[in-house]
Amino acid sequence: MPPTPAAPFRVCVFCGSSDGTRPEYGSTAVALGAAIARRGWGLVYGGAQVGLMGMTADAALRWGGEVIGVIPEGLFRDEVAHPGLTQLLEVDGMLERKARMAELSDAFVSLPGGMGTLDELFEMLTWSQLGLHPRPKPSGLVEVDGFWSDLVAFMDRATKDGFVQRRHRELLLVDDDVERLLDRLAA
Ligand code: AMP
Repeated sequence: MPPTPAAPFRVCVFCGSSDGTRPEYGSTAVALGAAIARRGWGLVYGGAQVGLMGMTADAALRWGGEVIGVIPEGLFRDEVAHPGLTQLLEVDGMLERKARMAELSDAFVSLPGGMGTLDELFEMLTWSQLGLHPRPKPSGLVEVDGFWSDLVAFMDRATKDGFVQRRHRELLLVDDDVERLLDRLAA
């Protein structure tokens, strides 16, 4: 059998290793994973089978998508590696994980999550701001039930008060429609 061709565009998804308290978080994770795979795109993520991370990966796999997990060796007892991925890359630690995820991906999307998600989202944004990605790699937030509204308001405040340049603020796209957000990131 010929090898499966690599996905033409890969989206790195950052999201909670927890489910969150609202069912909409899970259903949006499923919608995002499915939408990425239906486009023939690849999913890159943290490799765990728990929380929104696992739901996103499972949905992409159900639609026959390429799913690459990047997980630090032995670091997380709770973040058990997903057993059914196209590829699971084990890396040395958190910094290498972020670097590998960035390298493999063309765009970054964050779903609701906690501090790990925020760390990953802002690391990729600051790399974009500094021009550290070898080519432009856009970032987007999937808005679910206003989860991100305070963060977006904060970013606007930081921009208004002169701490974030407008062109850097514009690096972060926000949309409550998964398909439209993916279209905008690919445009
Ligand atoms: P969370 O949003 O906290 O549930 O975490 C989501 C993802 O971020 C998980 O894959 C965590 O392993 C990862 N993560 C947690 N803490 C950090 C950190 N300090 N730096 C980078 N990633 C982290």
